[in-house]
Amino acid sequence: MALSLRCECGQVEGAVEPGPAYTRATCYCRDCRAYARWLERPGLMDARGGTDIVAINPRAVRFTAGVDRVACMSLSPGGLLRWYASCCRTPLGNTPRDGRIAYVGLPAASLAPPAAVDAAFGPAGRTLINTGSAQGEVKATPVAFLVDGLRIVAGILGARLRRQRPSLFFDAEGQPIRAPAVLAQAERASLYDRG
Ligand SMILES: [Zn+2]
Ligand SMILES: [Zn+2]
Repeated sequence: MALSLRCECGQVEGAVEPGPAYTRATCYCRDCRAYARWLERPGLMDARGGTDIVAINPRAVRFTAGVDRVACMSLSPGGLLRWYASCCRTPLGNTPRDGRIAYVGLPAASLAPPAAVDAAFGPAGRTLINTGSAQGEVKATPVAFLVDGLRIVAGILGARLRRQRPSLFFDAEGQPIRAPAVLAQAERASLYDRG
């Protein structure tokens, strides 16, 4: 069954091949939380401040509509590129700054239909990362973390050997299709955990 990556209002649409992902992981890092706050969209995080991410080789993902609505931000000058739909602020994917690195983290909340997402990538919550900054008790999954990490490294190296073309968020030269809007220090500080 084909999977779609889509924004809430439906203007941006993409197709995702349901092949093996690097991992499906819930990330409890402060950056993912700051980003969810910046988007001002409810429902992106679990009760402990975690974001459910499907990490995958971007060759499995392509846009089918609304590429002109795709926007890019970064929390800091060297931070991940965080791609979202400008129409309704739905997150679409996180990538490294170098488009030749074959990695994209797709927010599971933006993938549909949910049953097919679970069938293709496994259920949420098997791998938990950055648990030290969770908001509440979350048990680390060190073995899954290691295995999944190796799978990511192998996937990226394999893509480089195959000279895979840059991901859907980048042009043929590996440049991002949008210049990222980098948050100013004060705005960034206001988004991080308080208290
Ligand atoms: Zn939208
Ligand atoms: Zn994170």
